[in-house]
Amino acid sequence: MKIVSGSIIRLRIPFVETFRHHLAARSFSDSIVVKLKTDSGLVGYGEGVPRSYVTGETQAACLQHIQSKLLPTVMQKEFPAFAATHLVAEVGRLISDESDADAVVWHAARCAVELALLDVCLKVGSNSLREALPPADHDVFYTAVIGSGSLASVTAMAKRCKAAGFRSVKMKITSMDALESVAAVRNILGPDVSFRLDANGAFDAEGAAALLDGLAPYDIQCVEQPIPRGDVAALATLQASSPVPIMADESLVTEADALELIRAQGVDYFNLRISKCGGIGRTLAIAKLAREAGIRVVLGCQVGETSILSAAGCHVASHLAEVRAVEGAYGTHLLVEDVADPPIMFSDGGLAPALTGIGLGCNVREDKLRHYAEEWIDV
Ligand SMILES: [Mg+2]
Repeated sequence: MKIVSGSIIRLRIPFVETFRHHLAARSFSDSIVVKLKTDSGLVGYGEGVPRSYVTGETQAACLQHIQSKLLPTVMQKEFPAFAATHLVAEVGRLISDESDADAVVWHAARCAVELALLDVCLKVGSNSLREALPPADHDVFYTAVIGSGSLASVTAMAKRCKAAGFRSVKMKITSMDALESVAAVRNILGPDVSFRLDANGAFDAEGAAALLDGLAPYDIQCVEQPIPRGDVAALATLQASSPVPIMADESLVTEADALELIRAQGVDYFNLRISKCGGIGRTLAIAKLAREAGIRVVLGCQVGETSILSAAGCHVASHLAEVRAVEGAYGTHLLVEDVADPPIMFSDGGLAPALTGIGLGCNVREDKLRHYAEEWIDV
């Protein structure tokens, strides 16, 4: 099998409504999609979501890196037929690891190429990603996520989440004022819904300590990234005296980050995200480190991801028996239109879809990609 052509697509799909947290307010999807075509005419798609404040990648730089560095290493080369059981590791080895600036980890770029290669290799063998990532024996329920906002807006959302039967809810927080919202939302959700918070690094160490103490009465599953990335020792100090478990998100991008957090006993939870962590292979590698260290894991997502990344997330969430919560698969709950038909979306109460189709299990519509492409580069 040989990859003979491909495309890199810069997407812009409007959101149904703006989503806000401490570091960003988003009103459109800004993914990079990679399309790869084999000599037999089969097509695979992958997606990465660059975030300059997480991996250092802008959308333009991510596209450029894929075009100049990653695709040349996989195009026009003869690949053997990989067994599904070894596919994730084999594909990981095909992708160049070149890094040209210390500040940048090309993880969204790598993820887009990895997923496209996995999709097309699976299609060559008429296999589903399920065969590479066998599901564990558990149902997966997605978390509903409430963006930061006024007390009135977050409580209105909490009522919708409760009415829809979600078992797990996460809320973005940006200041100590959030304690009032936390109390109100916990009251609406009742004691049986798991409730966690994400600060996206909004607090300094002193503020974070006060916040964590203030959250003690509300049965919070964990607080994500209370302080900015960069000070693992400060996370460990917070963790040691916190009444609420702490989760690393922006602080956890690479396997080296994971090892440093484990060594420092910095957090109780890791937020694994496939695009942030550089694809499925690297996400699973961090999950393994977490498992060995007794750290709990959540599978997060990228706000505005399309069904391509959501399909990958859905398979990984099903595969990892230890996953404590899962985010993603919003489809047209957030995007005015998705690029797959049907979109990969959770159903009642957040139940994950069962994906059994070949490849990633997601039927990408090229006409929709064309419609929402801001830039389309054929290679
Ligand atoms: Mg987060």
